[in-house]
Order: sequence, then structure tokens, then C-alpha cells
Amino acid sequence: MSADMVVIGAGVIGSSIALELARAGHRVIVLERAPGAGQGSTSASSAIVRFNFSTIAGVATAWEAHFGWLDWAGHLGHDVGDLASFRQSGLVLLDVDVAPRTSSLPLFDKIGVPYEEWDSATLAERVPGIDAGRYWPPKRLDDEEFWQDAKDSLGAVYTPDAGYVSDPGLAAVNLAAAAAAHGAEFRFRSTVTAVEKAGGRVTAVRLSDGTRIPCAVVVNAAGPWSGALNRLAGVGSDFTVGVRPMRQEVAHVPVPAGYHGPAVADMDLGTYFRGEVGGDLLVGGTEPECDLLQWTDDPDTVDVHPTAAVFEAQVTRAARRLPDLAVPNRARGVVGVYDVADDWTPIYDRTDLGGFYVAIGTSGNQFKNAPVVGQLMAELIDRVENGADHDASPVRFRAPRTGLEIDLGAFSRRRSRNSANSGTVMG
Ligand SMILES: Cc1cc2nc3c(=O)[nH]c(=O)nc-3n(C[C@H](O)[C@H](O)[C@H](O)COP(=O)(O)OP(=O)(O)OC[C@H]3O[C@@H](n4cnc5c(N)ncnc54)[C@H](O)[C@@H]3O)c2cc1C
Repeated sequence: MSADMVVIGAGVIGSSIALELARAGHRVIVLERAPGAGQGSTSASSAIVRFNFSTIAGVATAWEAHFGWLDWAGHLGHDVGDLASFRQSGLVLLDVDVAPRTSSLPLFDKIGVPYEEWDSATLAERVPGIDAGRYWPPKRLDDEEFWQDAKDSLGAVYTPDAGYVSDPGLAAVNLAAAAAAHGAEFRFRSTVTAVEKAGGRVTAVRLSDGTRIPCAVVVNAAGPWSGALNRLAGVGSDFTVGVRPMRQEVAHVPVPAGYHGPAVADMDLGTYFRGEVGGDLLVGGTEPECDLLQWTDDPDTVDVHPTAAVFEAQVTRAARRLPDLAVPNRARGVVGVYDVADDWTPIYDRTDLGGFYVAIGTSGNQFKNAPVVGQLMAELIDRVENGADHDASPVRFRAPRTGLEIDLGAFSRRRSRNSANSGTVMG
């Protein structure tokens, strides 16, 4: 068995890359240690599709990608059965000094992302049941200041085109099925344990059962395991931005009666939430400074059960914002792992090992971009394999649906760290 190109990982990112490489006519093998596509961190995703990022490339990528979700069947290009669907709920980004409107709105204007600016009265009117109080900074529940009344009120920026994807695991399965229809081969229960090289280029990968797969190109799309895979390949020494796995919990709670509101990003209280048609409210966190971040060296060792402490903190914060939200006694939800880049911005790049590429550091915020990540990685690989010096003169990707030009240097492994990042999952 041999391939032109091997993709390691069949999450939403690896499956999307496989689709675009196969569409471009390459012989692609995807190696995935799980029994199916989308069973890694993708399956735990809140799958929120929003546009506020701290770089112009980040906003452009998210805006382009949302057209892919809107036209999911068209994006896949094959009838692959049941499809994940995009629900356009809109998203409210509550005002917060660490990510001010003055930073995000010029980027929206430049890219053409529609938005509305709301004062606190409009926020209360447009999101019935919301408490528009300003509580900054986020606090722990055992801090008595947590329970103090708001001293002020806040407004928000509303982006009506935002929303979420109904079933993130199914989205990866859809991408994998479309890639297979284009000829990509998926080998599940296949764990890569070695990357072979000669003359400064990758030559093959080896699986845990000893199978050797010769190939010219390898793409590391291993999600929270990406750092370990880079170490296997011996790459990373020239990276200015590192990656590290972080455990995350998302609480699932009954939606307060009558709440049909948009998704809410609430860094003021350190939380975010979105509804699910006919289902729960999903409540996640935005890494407030008062919380202990759950870094881990090995994603396989994380406790996969939601904990009472995190559940209570997240849901109680959300209940300050939505006073009709009840805080259940028993923790319920999902646990996942982020692959966090030092500046919360992904790394989509080549490496100093010829033929070895990375689509990593997705930092809890790149599910939404998956349709475009496949395309931009395929373009990057094609250009670099044909002699482009991406490090000296970064590839510019022309986004097919919006016509936007995205400077892929923004996602370089050797970039100056993105100093505008919020230090949180918001990127
Ligand atoms: C709790 C949570 C909430 C999130 N919410 C959002 C959100 O609202 N919006 C958003 O845009 N993003 C969100 N994200 C981020 C988003 O889900 C991820 O960025 C995205 O799913 C990452 O996809 P991936 O394909 O890179 O990784 P994964 O889905 O983890 O896939 C990597 C795959 O590689 C496989 N693998 C690893 N090592 C090997 C090996 N050696 N050999 C073979 N296979 C291997 C793994 O088994 C895994 O299936 C969230 C993430 C989490 C965890």
C-alpha cells in the first residue's frame, strides 16, 4: 500500500483536508486510530460558527467558511446521506474591555460581516430574559463578590449570520464520506507510531501493527495529539508558537422556558451558551483568569466525565446572565480537549521537514473553519510541493465563495505571536 499523501486524523479538519486533496486528484490515505471519523475532539465541539477573531485572516476565514456550512450539500459535492445542518441562530458578543468593539468592528467592516451594535436596552429587548448587567471581572463561585449586584450595564454586538452546526461528529462523517467518494481511502483503527524520512523529506509512516505506508506528503491533523505527532516526526524546533492540550467541559442543561435566543459569548462572566433546537442549552467557558486551566500533557489521560465543580461554575455564571436558568444538582455534559496554540490562533503550515505539513493548534475555535481549512491546506501543499517558498513569501489563498484573499502567513508556525489575541478560546 502506498499513497501520494497521508492525512493523520479523521476529525473535521483531517477529513476536510482529505476531501480537498482527493478532489485535486491525489491518492490519499487517511489514518485514524478511532473506529470512525469525527470521534476525537470534534465530537465534543459546541460547533458555534461566529466571525469575531483578532486577526483579519481569522475573520476572513470564518466568514468564507460559513458559506460552506450554508451550502453544505454543495460543498460536499456528493450525496452522502444524512447531513449535518447549519442553524442560523445569530450570536451576541457581550461588551468586554479585553475584546472591545473598537477592535472587532473594523475587521467586520473590512471583510463585510454584517452586524448590529446594541446598547443595553436593545440587548434586553432583543434577548428576552437576559440580564444586561456588567459583572467584570469573572469570579469564582466561592468569591462573595460573585453574588454582588451589577454596578453597570453592558451592550453587545450582534452578528445575525452566526449560528451553530447541529451535529459536529456527523459533519466530519459527511466530509469523510465525500472524500471517500472522491477516492480517498480511510483506514480506521490505525495508529501512526513513526514518521520515516530520508534526505530531509518524509518518506513513509508506520502504524502500530508494523504496517509501512510510503508517501510523499504527510499532514498532521491529529487534533490534541498533534504535538506528540510533531515530536514523532522530529519537527517543532523552528516553531515560534507551541501547542498544548487543554481539558474542557461543556455543560448541558434544560433550556429556560421560552428561551429561543441567539448564541451568547459572555466573556464578562466567563461563559458562552447556545440553544439546541428541541434540546439542551450548551454552556461552555471562556477561560476566565480566576479559573484553574486544565492543561494536560496527554489527552488520553483526561477524565472524560463532567465534574460537579466546573458544571456548577459554568451553569451558575450562565444563570446570572439568564436568571430563569435553573442550575441542576447533577453534572451533565461533554468533556473534550482543545489543542491550544500559544496565541490561540491555529497553525496551518509546512514544516522544516520536507513534505510534512501541520493543521494544528485549533485552540477550541476552528470547527467552524473546517470547510476552508481543507481548501487552504490543499492550496498550500500544492504550492509548496511545486517550489513556492511559503516561509519567505507566504501563500495568499483566494477564497472561492467570497473572493477574499487570505494571507496564510497569519497561520505560520514561525509568525510573530498574535499579540491581539484575547488569551481565550475566542482567539
Ligand atoms: C469542548 C469543545 C468545544 C468546542 N467548541 C467549538 C465551537 O463552538 N466552535 C468552533 O469553531 N470550534 C469549537 N471547538 C474546536 C473544534 O471542535 C476543534 O478545533 C476541531 O474539532 C478540531 O478538529 P481536528 O480534526 O483537528 O481534531 P480531532 O477531532 O481531535 O481529530 C484528530 C484525530 O486524530 C486522531 N489521531 C491522533 N493521533 C493519531 C495517530 N497517532 N494516529 C492516527 N490517528 C490519530 C484522533 O483519534 C482524532 O480523531 C471546540 C472543541 C472542544 C473540545
